[in-house]
Parts: sequence; structure tokens; C-alpha cells
Amino acid sequence: MPIKQMFKRTSGWLYLNTPLGRRRLMGAGMILMLHRVLADDDSAALPHRNELCVGPQAFARLLNWLQLHFDCVPLMELLEPSQASARPRVALTFDDGWRDNALNAFPLLQQHKVPASIFLSTDFIGSRQRFWWESLGETLWGTYGPQARLKLMEQVRQIGRPLPSGFFMGASEARRSLALANYLQSLKTLAPIALRALIDSCPTESLPQAMDWEQVRSLEDSGLITFGPHGASHTILTGLDDRKLDEELSRSHAALQNGCRSPLPVYCYPNGDHDQRVRKHLAAHHYPYALSTRAGICHDNDNPLALPRIGVSQRNASRPSLLAWRISRGGRT
Ligand SMILES: [Zn+2]
Repeated sequence: MPIKQMFKRTSGWLYLNTPLGRRRLMGAGMILMLHRVLADDDSAALPHRNELCVGPQAFARLLNWLQLHFDCVPLMELLEPSQASARPRVALTFDDGWRDNALNAFPLLQQHKVPASIFLSTDFIGSRQRFWWESLGETLWGTYGPQARLKLMEQVRQIGRPLPSGFFMGASEARRSLALANYLQSLKTLAPIALRALIDSCPTESLPQAMDWEQVRSLEDSGLITFGPHGASHTILTGLDDRKLDEELSRSHAALQNGCRSPLPVYCYPNGDHDQRVRKHLAAHHYPYALSTRAGICHDNDNPLALPRIGVSQRNASRPSLLAWRISRGGRT
């Protein structure tokens, strides 16, 4: 094991297992941020999937570990506690509304009796509309065959965003996957219309990527899962003018009101991006809480419209002491 990783794991373990570390966590809350739970761990471990995906074994391991050290509570119980807790509290959140949350995450949450909240990009729910990073990433990875891959490679070359050299044959799978992860990150600066054109040239898969409203309602009926909005179209809110911003907030709000019994009064910013103007508009839409992607644990003096979270990846879910290290870093800021 590399020395840096060993240090992280040891200090993470110490943090949770010493009175000083645990005292720091008491009275604070921790919100974990997940996205997808894939059907197998090897697939989730590749660098271009690692940040946003976990496998079922890693996820089960994470749930065991959380139950050992924390009280796993519903998000609203963490934000507005109704009773005192003897242990630090954690709430799980999932972004986007991936279909695999219902297929792969929910059975494990149910088995462990751990509550979670899922934040839906509402235009995608019950539709075949696709998330650009997933469609582009998997097409370029070759998941849909060499022809689809070559076609998209040519298209990104034509718009002046050719694939980096590290991505090409000859490099190991891990290196190619890492190059793809960095490349996808760089595409976040493309205009939505350019991204749309790229998605349109990706092959259509047989299954939709997002959940449908029936799945949403059945998860909500279990009493374990609650839902909130994560934008309607997943457009970054800070880039929208006032009118479009209000439209996006209203549309996502209305969809949740329509599709769920009791949607959360918590908004989750797409890509975590927000500023003073976005927060002001959100408050005017009567949201008292919002989740960002800033890493950290929640304290009483946090801005409730910019709550921090701790990101869960395949790497730290399969080695929770690495997650403890991230928590310890968040605990000090
Ligand atoms: Zn998202």
C-alpha cells in the first residue's frame, strides 16, 4: 500500500476511535453524497467511473461501517433533530435519480434499514433523456462498440475537443480510463447546445438511465427513501438568467409536488454550483435548505442554503477508513 494511503487510513481510523475525534463530530452532522450503485464492483472501480459510482460490495461494506460508527438518520432528522443522539449522525444522499438507485442501492438500504434521500433532475424521470457525461463517457469507452466510438471521436475532433493522446491504444486500461475521466471533466465548459449535439450522436440504449415516477413512488412508499429536486434539466444554475433560473426552480418543484407524496424542502444544486443570486432565488421559492458539493461536515453556523457534503467514491466506500480521513479533514475546517 502506498505510504500516503496508509497514513490516510491510519489517521482516519484514529479520528473515529479517539475521544477528541469523536467529540469533534458530536453535534455536527455529516451528509454523504453518492450518485450511482452499479451491478458490479470491478466496473465501478475504473477511474472514469470511480468518483460517481460504487459497486454493491463496496456499498454494503460502507453501510456496515456507517452503522458501526454513526446513527444513520433521514436527512430531515439531521437538519432538524427531534431527539438527542448518543452518536454522530449521518444522512445519505444520491444525486440525479439514476435507475440503478432503485435496482441496486435500494435493496441494500432496505436490508440494512438505512434511510436515504434521492435528488431528482426531474426532466429525466420517466423519460429517455440521457445524462451527457454517462452517454459520452461510455460511448468513448467503447461500451457500445467500436463504430459508435469512432463516430463520436471524429465528432469531438471536429468541434476542437479531440481526445487526449493518453486515451489511445497501447496505454493500459487504467490509464485510458483516467485520461477519459479528465477529458469528461474538461467538457463541462462546453455550451449545453454543443453537449446536446454530441449526445445525439451516441447510440440509444435499450433502457432509460433515470428512474420513472412509478419507481419513485414505490421507493417513497417504503418509508425509507425521500425525494427532493436537483434541477429540472440539470443545467448549472449559476449560468442561467433570472427568468430561466426561476423557470428551472419552478419546473423541478412542480414535478416533485406532482410525483411524490411529501417532497423534501431541500434543493440540491446541479454540479454543486451556486452563488448569492441563485441562493436568493431559491429562498424566494421557499426552500430553507440546499446541498452543495463543498467537502465538509455540517455545523450549526453553516449557511443552510450551502450545506457541505462528503463525496463517496468506489475507492473510499470499499476502504471506509479513507472516508474517515476525508471526514477528519472536513471536521477541521
Ligand atoms: Zn448531478
